[in-house]
Amino acid sequence: MSTGSGGGPGHAVVIGAGISGLLAARVLSDHFSQVTLIERDSMDSLRVWRSGVPQARHPHLLLARSQRIVEELFPGIWDDFEKLDVPVFDFGSRTRMLFPTGFSPSIDSGVLCRSVSRPRFEAALRRRVLALPPVTYQDGSQVVGLDLHGLTRSVAAVLVAGRGRGRTGEGVRRVAADVVVDASGRTSHLPHWLSASGLSRPRVSQVDPRLGYATRLYEIPDGVDLDWDVLVEFTRLPSASRGCVGLRIENDQVLFTLQGNGGDYPPGDEDGFVAFARSLRLPVTGMLARLRARSPIYCYRNTVNRWYAYHRVPRWPQNLIAVGDAHCVFNPIYGQGITVASQQALLLHRMLEQGGDAPVASTLRAYRARQARQLRWPWLLSTSVDRGWQEGPVSLRSRFMSGVADAWMCSIGGDPEMFSRFITVTHLLSGPGVLLAPLSLARIGRAYLRDRRASGAHREEAR
Ligand SMILES: Cc1cc2nc3c(=O)[nH]c(=O)nc-3n(C[C@H](O)[C@H](O)[C@H](O)COP(=O)(O)OP(=O)(O)OC[C@H]3O[C@@H](n4cnc5c(N)ncnc54)[C@H](O)[C@@H]3O)c2cc1C
Repeated sequence: MSTGSGGGPGHAVVIGAGISGLLAARVLSDHFSQVTLIERDSMDSLRVWRSGVPQARHPHLLLARSQRIVEELFPGIWDDFEKLDVPVFDFGSRTRMLFPTGFSPSIDSGVLCRSVSRPRFEAALRRRVLALPPVTYQDGSQVVGLDLHGLTRSVAAVLVAGRGRGRTGEGVRRVAADVVVDASGRTSHLPHWLSASGLSRPRVSQVDPRLGYATRLYEIPDGVDLDWDVLVEFTRLPSASRGCVGLRIENDQVLFTLQGNGGDYPPGDEDGFVAFARSLRLPVTGMLARLRARSPIYCYRNTVNRWYAYHRVPRWPQNLIAVGDAHCVFNPIYGQGITVASQQALLLHRMLEQGGDAPVASTLRAYRARQARQLRWPWLLSTSVDRGWQEGPVSLRSRFMSGVADAWMCSIGGDPEMFSRFITVTHLLSGPGVLLAPLSLARIGRAYLRDRRASGAHREEAR
């Protein structure tokens, strides 16, 4: 893969310099002579936590698939983290996961992972992207709308104002563009911009597990040894709504998150945090007491799965695409966001490369259709169980989906083969075929029957 040499003429504008925006800019820098990244947050705020990405305080597991794609787009990037003492580990042997029916066995999975905090990861991408000759960066600048060229059905320019300005139209400037990528994340205003330009709003699919996070950063003191790099307690429908995630990150630190589904949100105060942690099956309070708290407790609740069907919008502007969370956002507990953003960047790269001299508009049209197909599997993975945690009556289809997902989770505890398959599926290294293989189906079916018998026996005892 070439490295940002600016392949052809034209100006690509990327809205938002989060992970998706940086990945998109990297790819576009091979194909356009000018790539402008427009970011709402100011450069000064980028060294530390910044308000544009409040999720950055929470653990960001980088799935193996994303790590491989990022290495392909930025060869040698993982060397940038060497000095930071970033954990590098086999996911099968350094992960301790409590499934409904028991712990994950320790296996040599061959799935290598690195664990780094979101701000450090983003900073490494940003450093490399900003060094690419075609890329320029406008920070402290907020896109407030699109200027649509009606006749050609394309975006002529994006409308930009200083952060927090532009509502009244004052101080708004036009940035002309040949291609526009919306990478402005889960707060994207694209549906509104489309309707303001006289186009239809997209159909939206939404599954809300009513999940809350409460996260704290800890330091691992000298002499304290953790026997994991990733620690997880899974929740289970209908009543085990509480779980947790621990992630070792750079510089001997741990991000520890309490998780509550179905509106059972973990609290952000000290006593509430400890009481919630004590209610888990994993004995985490003793472990937390041995660590040194390094931050307040941060809560996050905007965890809905939401997919805008942009590929179905009639009269769609032909030079516009949306990527990452701006297009489809997932419940973060499955850790898919960055991987899906990486897959979209790689797909865009391949299609622009294969498109050769074809008009970019036709490549982007084909891209939108492929992008939608690519999203189907991660969407299914993310929403199957979550449907059961939604508010109100649950449809028969949703109950079936969450029942199958539950039986799958029950088949994993203590089973090395099923755990190995779980890893390849959840790291998006394989598709659904692995779960439809006879061995998987037999073990999932057996787990389902075992569970039915166990709950039958429970009901008998309770009478
Ligand atoms: C609590 C939580 C935990 C998560 N954990 C994981 C995980 O473990 N693994 C994983 O892979 N993913 C995780 N994610 C998802 C992950 O954060 C995103 O999927 C990923 O960062 C891609 O996001 P993005 O770049 O599309 O959007 P964002 O990261 O939200 O970036 C959007 C950018 O656009 C800017 N912006 C917004 N509006 C405008 C505008 N109008 N003009 C200019 N700039 C604008 C913002 O300031 C921001 O910089 C988690 C998410 C949450 C909420």
